[in-house]
Amino acid sequence: MSTPSDAPTLLIKIFGKDRPGITAGLFDTLAVYGLDVVDIEQTVTRGRITLCALVTVPAPGIATEGELRATVHSWAESLKLQAEILSGTGDNPPRGHGRSHVTVLGHPLTSGSVAAVAAAVTGRGGNIDRIFRLAKYPVTAVEFAVSGAPTEELRTALATEASVLGVDIAVVSAGLQRRAQRLIVMDVDSTLIQDEVIELFAGHAGCEDEVAEVTARAMRGELDFEQSLHARVALLAGLDASVVDKVRAQVRLTPGARTLVRTLKRLGYQVGVVSGGFTQVTDELKERLGLDFAAANTLEITDGKLTGRVTGEIVDRAGKARLLKSFAAQAGVPLAQTVAIGDGANDLDMLNAAGLGVAFNAKPLVREAAHTAVNVPFLDTVLYLLGITREEVEAADIE
Ligand SMILES: [Mg+2]
Repeated sequence: MSTPSDAPTLLIKIFGKDRPGITAGLFDTLAVYGLDVVDIEQTVTRGRITLCALVTVPAPGIATEGELRATVHSWAESLKLQAEILSGTGDNPPRGHGRSHVTVLGHPLTSGSVAAVAAAVTGRGGNIDRIFRLAKYPVTAVEFAVSGAPTEELRTALATEASVLGVDIAVVSAGLQRRAQRLIVMDVDSTLIQDEVIELFAGHAGCEDEVAEVTARAMRGELDFEQSLHARVALLAGLDASVVDKVRAQVRLTPGARTLVRTLKRLGYQVGVVSGGFTQVTDELKERLGLDFAAANTLEITDGKLTGRVTGEIVDRAGKARLLKSFAAQAGVPLAQTVAIGDGANDLDMLNAAGLGVAFNAKPLVREAAHTAVNVPFLDTVLYLLGITREEVEAADIE
């Protein structure tokens, strides 16, 4: 039963040094008066407790409000706690429409950044309902629960702030969708792994510089991806197939990649990769990390040598978006509940098609076009954008 809006209520705020028994003590004191709890919130920061309880007033004949106040104050004094009691009516006012989660990743998180984020929220007519820390490692991640401002508007406003402040800010709309089972699809080169696989192959073919230059131009969006792929693969013609194993051994996962995949799998997410690189590497990554989906181009190998050609349908910019949709259909997850992560121009369609597109240490063109950008080199920070805390990740690892 909800509290009538004109029913008298009391807000009791307790602040002071935390120790066991404070919450039990306060509510034992209130229980004597038969009060109902309307709302309650408690936080502990560096050993200091803030406990707020919104309760009904004592029924006539049981006690007066004055007697209740005196009892709470004397209980608080006995424990050297500060107590503040405010009279009012009803429950909290309803939160405004347009609820969002704003996640800020700082390395470090400066006071100026928090001030700017808060000002941007207020400037859009929004209100900050709650703030809490998601992680202190490897970055400081803080989540703001915001209401009263349209999510899209807030996202645009904060994207500008983020680039000025040099922090990463993600704005996602609140609601069940955020908690729903999801699918995460990642790019591979320079996203899941630190390397560009074709450059590793090129290293063995002695054409590293030539290939790197074409890759960089393609990723900046200056070259058609398919043309650049054929041009680069052609440079590998004649390479011994044994190089595949050497390249697999050279691949370095991005810091946080294992944590990200392991945690998402525990949460029941499905995880996939789509790559403009090669199945010769992505299949092995799929196996190693226990991924659900993987798609990439395949280097043609004949008589133990790379032919300099790829076989099958090319995974290009449009192909990546198509594969995201296909994985989502296979996983039975609506597109709105998908997350895509990538760094290159060929990831843009996929990032835009997903419910949440995350540009990961991306080229400027990609960063500007994506919903959200992460510019710290740790892939597990994506978990914070989904509202998962570091504590939850670590607790799951211990279990
Ligand atoms: Mg990439």
